[in-house]
Amino acid sequence: MSLSNGRTYLAIPGPSVMPDRVLQAMHSAAPNIYEGDLVETTRTIVTDLKAVARTKGQVAMYIGNGHAAWEASLANTLQAGDKILALVTGHFGEGWAAMATALGVTVDTLEFDSRSDIDLAQVTAALSDDKTHSYKAVIAVHVDTSTSALNDISGLRQALDAAGHPALLMVDCIASLAVDRFEMDAWGVDVMVAASQKGLMTPPGMSFVFFSDKAAEVRKSLPLVSNYWDWTKRSEPDVFYQYWCGTAPTHHIFGLRTALDMIVHEEGIEAAWARQATLAKAVWAAFEAWSTTGGVQLNIADPSKRSNAVTMLRTKAPHGTQLRQWVEQNAGVTLGIGVGMAALDDPEWHGFFRVGHMGHVNAHMVLGTLATIEAGMKAVGIPHNPGGVAAAVNVISQV
Ligand SMILES: *Cc1c(COP(=O)(O)O)cnc(C)c1O
Repeated sequence: MSLSNGRTYLAIPGPSVMPDRVLQAMHSAAPNIYEGDLVETTRTIVTDLKAVARTKGQVAMYIGNGHAAWEASLANTLQAGDKILALVTGHFGEGWAAMATALGVTVDTLEFDSRSDIDLAQVTAALSDDKTHSYKAVIAVHVDTSTSALNDISGLRQALDAAGHPALLMVDCIASLAVDRFEMDAWGVDVMVAASQKGLMTPPGMSFVFFSDKAAEVRKSLPLVSNYWDWTKRSEPDVFYQYWCGTAPTHHIFGLRTALDMIVHEEGIEAAWARQATLAKAVWAAFEAWSTTGGVQLNIADPSKRSNAVTMLRTKAPHGTQLRQWVEQNAGVTLGIGVGMAALDDPEWHGFFRVGHMGHVNAHMVLGTLATIEAGMKAVGIPHNPGGVAAAVNVISQV
């Protein structure tokens, strides 16, 4: 017998759960793309995206996924032969760096353990060693979705300043925007990339590059920028189609408008961050209670270095895959796979799973997911201590 009939639940770290209101907003007739509501709505989206990113800088929007924003951010700041410093804490940091390499950029990499965040002392040392200021940019991921580590972006700005280094600070907030606190201007970030399908609760297919005045100057100094990726007209268009370098993503605009209403104008970004933090605490409390050696364990031991968007778990292979299959087939819950923790053909790959808790998530969704995981661990035979759901209930009851 399966108990999976009923509404399914996607607890992976993106794409995330879409609010019914977002879907309903997209269920509408094709609009005029030359004038009228769509043009005005797009202007309000720009304003609200900047509010979510906490910036007075600019934003360029792309019809593409997070990888598109990665490419756009590099195309507007670097050229072949330039050099950057990549701070890699997992699969996604690696991916962004690989994209720079493919564009002919020389990438020096500082690689950190998959169970920890960026070590700022090593960054400071690398920047101080770069006496000729050969690095044009430092790239880092705020939350590496593969490990669920949260990096200290404000600390990175301090490291750059302490070394007197002029490199651009470029940050990937694709997993964390509107989930983990992020302050683009206050933290001195020059370029930030994000996408629609995670904390922004909208289907995959839109992405964003936010940039500071300093980054805009760097863009102006480049001799050659691909017309499609160029952020100049996308952020300050003379005519509407230039926002998109072509036809607007009409229904994504409708969906994102509603999502931003919910985040910025109804709940408020501070309240959204606080909700996400408490829900994440409930998830961690459950796994801390269940945790045993040889059973299930949180990938990031220090709670202050964990993201509120996603939690990465380690088990003994193949328990991760068995648990995912059990909860999907028997309870209608889909958990995330381990990404980048082991090669796909390595049996160890089956030891990992992730719980996404970003965006349109509330207490009953999290408690339901955790109780389902407990049932799955019992069914599959994953060793665990009792009391995980009770520990999560305790966190939720103290709100
Ligand atoms: C999801 C994600 C990406 C990739 O986004 P796509 O939309 O799949 O291209 C990049 N970086 C981080 C941190 C992510 O979470």
